[in-house]
Amino acid sequence: MFSGYFRMKSQCDACGARFERGPGYYLGSIYFNYGLTATLVTAGYMLMFVTTDWSEPLKLGLLGSFTLLFPLWFFRYARCFWYGMDYYFDPEADAEKSPRSSS
Ligand SMILES: [Zn+2]
Repeated sequence: MFSGYFRMKSQCDACGARFERGPGYYLGSIYFNYGLTATLVTAGYMLMFVTTDWSEPLKLGLLGSFTLLFPLWFFRYARCFWYGMDYYFDPEADAEKSPRSSS
């Protein structure tokens, strides 16, 4: 699906499925990425609060770094998940969402 770490191919090399389906198509993947990051940071803070006696600045540094780095690492997985969800729930829409057929 990707030609670089953040650059997506326009379509699948194997089956031709279109990945670029229009402006804002992958906005939902950002919500998913954000939601997972927020959930993990909240769980991580609670875990550290209960199991460690680390200082607040240390916890802030660890969780702050995680908050910056995890979404970058998870970017591709969030987009794949979003595309997979769309394909699972609406597999026939691939042709309809194609820019070529919208004219
Ligand atoms: Zn394919």
